[in-house]
Amino acid sequence: MATLVLWCGALGYAGMLPDRPARAVPGRGVPPCEALEQGNPGRREIALTIDDGPHDPIARQLLDILRAEDVRATFFVVGKRVREHPGVVARMVNEGHEVGSHTATHRRLDTLSDVMIRAQLLGCEAAVESACGRRVNLLRPPGARYNAATARIAEEGGYRLVGWTVAAKDFVEVPSDLIVDRVLASVTNGSIILLHDDYPETVTALPRILRALKRQGYRFVTVSEMLGRLSPPIRVERNPVAPSARSTAFAEPGTAAGP
Ligand SMILES: [Zn+2]
Repeated sequence: MATLVLWCGALGYAGMLPDRPARAVPGRGVPPCEALEQGNPGRREIALTIDDGPHDPIARQLLDILRAEDVRATFFVVGKRVREHPGVVARMVNEGHEVGSHTATHRRLDTLSDVMIRAQLLGCEAAVESACGRRVNLLRPPGARYNAATARIAEEGGYRLVGWTVAAKDFVEVPSDLIVDRVLASVTNGSIILLHDDYPETVTALPRILRALKRQGYRFVTVSEMLGRLSPPIRVERNPVAPSARSTAFAEPGTAAGP
């Protein structure tokens, strides 16, 4: 692992990091500067990820479905939207979901200076901590666009980068049938599914996706759980209590329904 990290670091600092990050492969794990794009292909499990929110009311409707289906997801949230809907983010954490960073304002990180990249990470961190007292330690760069500087700054901040395996492309309005078909056509062991909370068609599609995949024998895990099932496993604590909130009592995941 140490050799891989050094190799990866050298590649990254040389500015040669590929636009599309490498996939995790069995027996290798994911070096810090690469994005997790697929979990352990030997396990019949899936990580459902939902980006760009929280948008109201779509995010709350998706949470209702996830609660009814007893599925935990990972939400990659945008800091400015967290500020608009902090109660929705608190509900995500309280209901056992994972919350990761999708930057402060959804900028393409590979176009920014180091200072601006840090500001994008810190802006989302602060919004999430203010909303629910938890820290984010997963980062999904908008558009999967990142470079060596992004990877280095993310690693310095304690982040793991997260990509995806299966994209429903529901960031534009498309029929729910198409969302379902796009997901079910490509899912395999260890897939990371990417949905968005922009349009009601995703709300219509989600129960069909969840039920179909359950029938196929898949179980749903959060991204941190998926990282812990790689070989070698990578330990990421799911939304630890933020340093600034340690003295404040916050509800533990799964103990309370939010607003
Ligand atoms: Zn996005």
